[in-house]
Amino acid sequence: MKIHEYQAKELLRAYDVPVPRGQVAYTPEEAKSAYEQLGSALAVVKAQIHAGGRGKGGGVKLVRSGEEAHDAAKAILSKPLITHQTGPQGQPVRVLLIEEGSAIAKELYVGLAVDRALGCPVMMASSEGGMDVEEVAATHPEKILKEPVDPSLGLSAYQARRLAFGIGVPAASLGQAVKIMQALARLFIDKDCSIAEINPLILTKDGKVMALDAKMNFDDNALYRHPHLAGYRDLGEEDPREVEASKFGLNYIALEGNIGCMVNGAGLAMGTMDIVQLHGGSPANFLDVGGGARADQVREAFRIILQDKNVQAILVNIFGGIMKCDVIAAGIIEAAKSTKLDVPVVVRLEGTNVKLGREMLAQSGLALIPADGLEDAAKKVVAAAKSAKPRA
Ligand code: ADP
Ligand code: MG
Repeated sequence: MKIHEYQAKELLRAYDVPVPRGQVAYTPEEAKSAYEQLGSALAVVKAQIHAGGRGKGGGVKLVRSGEEAHDAAKAILSKPLITHQTGPQGQPVRVLLIEEGSAIAKELYVGLAVDRALGCPVMMASSEGGMDVEEVAATHPEKILKEPVDPSLGLSAYQARRLAFGIGVPAASLGQAVKIMQALARLFIDKDCSIAEINPLILTKDGKVMALDAKMNFDDNALYRHPHLAGYRDLGEEDPREVEASKFGLNYIALEGNIGCMVNGAGLAMGTMDIVQLHGGSPANFLDVGGGARADQVREAFRIILQDKNVQAILVNIFGGIMKCDVIAAGIIEAAKSTKLDVPVVVRLEGTNVKLGREMLAQSGLALIPADGLEDAAKKVVAAAKSAKPRA
């Protein structure tokens, strides 16, 4: 789960990390009155979307009056914000954060992620914070310092000091930087984050250390341990089809192609997408119906795949291990009856009860295209998609 910057800053505040004072606004008028209430000559109007790179995309504007705050808010709210993380269509902006402007002397970077090679969280820090940190990581990886974090001990003071020294925090501000890094590491572990990042962490002209931006992602599988975080979820920022799919326990990710894929198991789903691509096709989605899907989940999966009007053909690729092929067959038949199944469907079934499953499909009277093996399935679905007419 991703959250907005203003929510991440709320969490940081709870961990005693200094952040600028700010207010949320939904309209230009609210932005203006937020500016006036802040009472700071320099303020910043910031688009709140679940994507980074807002500064470069025009989603962060410095303002010096209520009028300017109003106009900046109006401009940002008027069109989707396009950043290097949103894709070319951009992301509509519905929420703004109006916060006091800071006098920045230096922009630093600190952040945590799980390091899969080390098998533990790792704290990263760089003197080259701000809007180009990805480029720094790509071209000067030596400028990103790292410390592994023991999940039971957190980030030790000596580790935090080593990082802070390493990124050039002056001695007078060192204590503040150490506290902030340790707090961020604690938050990361307490809340089961997958990413917790402060970029930029700034040094102000008067020697203060402060978080100007914050990004946090949480491990969905651990959310049940953090009921208070549920309120932070903003479904408006998520793909409506993915939200719908998650209600039925389906793992669905929308893609750009025209071949709908219905597969059980994430690994097989990835493999299926690869083989479709290998044979000249392009998957419309990733969809893992799970290891033990029921017939009603299969029906929902079909409905969600078919909602995507780019879909020209569907490939059902099921290996019946835990799941039985006859259950899948029943789901397909049920789906065909309850939805308008107006695209060719290629079915590759293998595993438990495969004979029964194939018989059920053959006797159903549905125009399904049976496939024998992965390659045959991929070839057939690519051919079916190529010859299909555009859907209404
Ligand atoms: P993003 O990372 O999405 O581009 P940031 O919140 O990091 O958005 O803002 C981009 C840049 O805008 C920062 O690197 C900083 O230079 C400037 N900025 C952001 N917030 C403030 C603030 N409160 N005061 C002054 N400058 C700010
Ligand atoms: Mg940033």
